[in-house]
Amino acid sequence: MTERAAASEILIAGGTVYTPDGPREADVHIGGGVITVVGEVPRPAGAKVVDARGMYVLPGAIDVHVHSRDPGFPQKEDFGTLTAAAAAGGVTTVIDMPNTVPAVDAAGVLESKSALARGKARVDFALWGLLRSGTTAEDLEGLAAAGAIGFKAYLGYAFSLTRKQVLSSYALGDPDLEAPPDYGTLARLAPVIAGLGLPLAIHAEDPAILGAFRRPLETYADVLAARPAEAEAVAIAAAAEIAGASGVRLHIAHLSSAAGLAAAQEAIRAGAPLSVETCPQYLWLSDEDFGRLGTAMKVFPPIRTTRDRDALVDGLARGVITVVATDHAPHSDEEKAATLDGAPAGTPGVQTLYSSSLELARRLGDVWQAPRWVSEAPAAMAGLQESKGTIAPGFDADIVIVDPSQPTRVRAEQMRSRQRHGALEGMEFGFSVRATYLRGALVAGDGRLQGRAGGRLVRPSKR
Ligand SMILES: [Zn+2]
Repeated sequence: MTERAAASEILIAGGTVYTPDGPREADVHIGGGVITVVGEVPRPAGAKVVDARGMYVLPGAIDVHVHSRDPGFPQKEDFGTLTAAAAAGGVTTVIDMPNTVPAVDAAGVLESKSALARGKARVDFALWGLLRSGTTAEDLEGLAAAGAIGFKAYLGYAFSLTRKQVLSSYALGDPDLEAPPDYGTLARLAPVIAGLGLPLAIHAEDPAILGAFRRPLETYADVLAARPAEAEAVAIAAAAEIAGASGVRLHIAHLSSAAGLAAAQEAIRAGAPLSVETCPQYLWLSDEDFGRLGTAMKVFPPIRTTRDRDALVDGLARGVITVVATDHAPHSDEEKAATLDGAPAGTPGVQTLYSSSLELARRLGDVWQAPRWVSEAPAAMAGLQESKGTIAPGFDADIVIVDPSQPTRVRAEQMRSRQRHGALEGMEFGFSVRATYLRGALVAGDGRLQGRAGGRLVRPSKR
């Protein structure tokens, strides 16, 4: 079913299709890279027919939180390896974070990053712009005009002016450092971002609270003590006040705690325009897994207790959390082999986003929640809802064929990312991605990459 899709007309026939009205058995006809018909379609002469009987036909995932590391850290990842992993896992759009080097803090940087990605990307991509404490309204307007999907602020992360780099650890007093963005930065720029109609995403850990608990990380208990959940809750509550006052759409990246969930829920109840994302590593793992996984599960904010994990699963089931993304953040296996204190934080994840989400949704009693978490809601958050995230006529033919009777075990040797050992290694999910189509072109099928790098920059639609 997965030879190279050379024909410009394709019929994906007889699968169970996830449509805006729910799942139903239907054919999907693709012409010129877009979906033309969903329903019963007579076999057109000359069209390639893909037999999808017994399969799920789903909208391609949109991972709103990935770190390509490109440009800047080629030993960790680049757009080629990132999007190979994405294509293999059914992710057809990746939205890359701006903390590459040089950081994406101005229109010209975004344009050159886009040109670089264009030559390597196997799936479509969008780009976040960076919010620094030195950012001006003109910087934001320039980034928006160049196609930024929104802006990301790293509370507590400084900026090296000469290296053009976002820094998680630094020495105060260094004249090369620009102060981290704070709530004042958010309050000053939120009205500008609201006016542009774009989302503001934050890394929500309050730096003052992290500063009060800083310590060497010798055990996993030190990790939890150094980055307590109240740091997340405080940052969410403060940023939500700013969102409520300015009207900016606030996106909470990688929610990790029950306390953070409660703060987000309270802000939503009070009317703040919030979207909340969590990641598979927080939904599947807890501190109890550290003995088995070691530094592979070192991520910031940290994977916490079983109580936090269960609260996040419940928050997702109740619709407080609407987006599942991965915070795909690879490092080289050598870097991750250091001590708990010395190893960098981050795990790859883009390749297992869809299969793990389908498994979680199935366990929660409605497998069709998964395309909402990884495709529909991300498209809406990122302003891509007019072209992506939906299987309906006129949308991009970004389509994933999933076999619901063939489990996937997460094994390092099948990972396409440069870092092969991720936090979900060894887990088994009851679904496997059989084929991924990007705008009607087969980009992965039956365990192999297909075609060439045809990914493009996608821009948000005007609001
Ligand atoms: Zn991240």
